[in-house]
Amino acid sequence: MSPADVGRPRREPRFAGAPWTGYHSPQVEAAVRLNTNEAPEPPPPEFVAALAAAIPGIDLNRYPDRRARRLRAALAGQHHVGADQIFCANGSNEVIQSLLVAYGGPGRCCVVFEPTYALHSHIARLTATAVVEGERNQGYLIDPAEFDRALARAATSGEGEPAVVFLCSPNNPTGLVEPDATVEAALARAPGLVVVDEAYVQFAPRSVLDLVGSHPNLVVLRTFSKTWSLAALRLGYAIGAPEVVEALFQAALPYHVDAVKQEAGILALGFTEQMDARVARLVAGRARVLAGLAVLGLEAVPSESNFVLFSTGDHDAHAVWEGLVARSVLVRDLSGWPRLAGHLRVTIGTPEENDAFLAALAEVVG
Ligand SMILES: *Cc1c(COP(=O)(O)O)cnc(C)c1O
Repeated sequence: MSPADVGRPRREPRFAGAPWTGYHSPQVEAAVRLNTNEAPEPPPPEFVAALAAAIPGIDLNRYPDRRARRLRAALAGQHHVGADQIFCANGSNEVIQSLLVAYGGPGRCCVVFEPTYALHSHIARLTATAVVEGERNQGYLIDPAEFDRALARAATSGEGEPAVVFLCSPNNPTGLVEPDATVEAALARAPGLVVVDEAYVQFAPRSVLDLVGSHPNLVVLRTFSKTWSLAALRLGYAIGAPEVVEALFQAALPYHVDAVKQEAGILALGFTEQMDARVARLVAGRARVLAGLAVLGLEAVPSESNFVLFSTGDHDAHAVWEGLVARSVLVRDLSGWPRLAGHLRVTIGTPEENDAFLAALAEVVG
């Protein structure tokens, strides 16, 4: 550093020239949008009306309850856990950020098993947490030997033993539930936290939530963005041991969950039946899409989520994606991602959207 530099503010963002370019799902105009795993239906109108009716009762001139006590109590009731086991934030992405601020950071590392949700490693890098990548096998599951190899690689990475191991169940973008044995082995062997991201769990046959009480190193992530039709609300939460929740509060900004969001979350929980009906419709739509892909001779991963990862077979995946866009159907092109060459991911939409997707796809690959 030259003397002239001393005391000068550093104008370069810390990530200038970093090898990753941020997280984008391209927002291309299309009539049928099946690229970001959102719910195709808006939330029930009764929910929107209840929220509008509640707003005049909110003290907008006051800071919100910093601990979001009523919302956390409502979520705790829903999941039969203590309110001290719940931490809420602006989407589960912010929960991940708080986890990594609290437990990761310089000199620490986390482990992910690729291919998986890109934001686990992306947010890790933003918090200067080193990322150790394990590999899923051909069937997109985690072999026990690979789990141990990843832990060992972490231990010799110079960043110490992994502070956080990320699992994702059902895994995005494959749609598969992590087998119980994988989660149990992770809980038994990981030296730090095991975070199981259950953003899509309502579409799957089972959850690992029951293990939270007996495993203080387990943190389960949930979100209102998918099943609750509330991606715009930005509300997610962690369920874990009270000590972990306290650590997350220390890492979060004060008043990070606003008063309107707290109220909206509480009100949404009154619409569980409508949410379950939406999930059932999407599970039926998933069966329809899987059957349609089979008819076209395209191989798909047997998803337990609200999206399907499929191979375009002999057809160039990016060209198929473009063919769909030309027919105003937008899916996620994952073919440029490591380990996902030749693959696209389609979100399950309304019956009409699913049909439009299958009809467009039949034209493109037919
Ligand atoms: C969509 C998704 C989320 C949701 O993140 P929010 O910040 O709650 O919208 C979390 N995890 C995974 C794996 C997802 O695919």
